[in-house]
Parts: sequence; structure tokens; C-alpha cells
Amino acid sequence: MTILGECFCGEVKYSIKGKLRDAQSCHCSRCRKAFSSQASAYAMVDANDFRWLAGENLLTSYVGVHGFGLQFCSKCGSTLNGVYKGAVHGVTLGCINGDPEIELGRHIYVGSKATWEVIAQGIPQYQEAPPATAE
Ligand SMILES: [Zn+2]
Ligand SMILES: [Zn+2]
Repeated sequence: MTILGECFCGEVKYSIKGKLRDAQSCHCSRCRKAFSSQASAYAMVDANDFRWLAGENLLTSYVGVHGFGLQFCSKCGSTLNGVYKGAVHGVTLGCINGDPEIELGRHIYVGSKATWEVIAQGIPQYQEAPPATAE
């Protein structure tokens, strides 16, 4: 399958030939800031499956303390993807066009969710990191 994604202004576009995996939503305070939202909505991708189609020159990166970075469109501010050690690590689900054929599999760091958030029931929730997984 081919998954297409783009930012809000449409200048930055990418394609993924393959499947996303490990879609999850992290409710920690850092992800709230990074994703400007109640939580992250993010899935991992094989870097070899990922291609920028347009606007790669518009990307700005912010690499945090753990070496994990986010890339966003410098024109409209959409956060498009995560990078780790220079390679694309995953994508934000919000910038995907259409159905990526994956659903959120879990909510993590629910113990530090925003006071104003109400999380929909139905999939596993973890107060912190799920077993044997780093954030
Ligand atoms: Zn944009
Ligand atoms: Zn988080």
C-alpha cells in the first residue's frame, strides 16, 4: 500500500510504501507540548519505505534531550514526522491523507494526562510506559 501525507499548507508531502506499525497516543506533558494537542498520535515507519515528495527544504527540526527529534513545516507549523539519528522514525497520524490502515493500539502515560482530557475507552491504557517499551 502507499500512504500519503502532507502538512496543513500542503507544501510538504511524503509517501510511504509499506505499513505503519505501533500506532499509539502518548499523554505525557512533553508530548502535549510537542504535538500542541491533548496527546501524540504517532506510528512508526521503516525509514526505507519513506520518501519526501515535496517541500523537504521547508522542514525544520527540533531534537529533544533524548536524541529523538520532530520535523515540522516552517511555513504552516504542522508536525509531520519523528527522526532518530538522522533517519525518519515515524509519522504523526494527523498529517496522513485518507486511511493508513492502522488504528491507535494503546494510550500511554495516561497517568499524566491533562486534567481537561477525557480519553475514549476501548483500547489499553497504561499509567506510564507499557511493559518493555521506552517512550
Ligand atoms: Zn506546511
Ligand atoms: Zn509522551
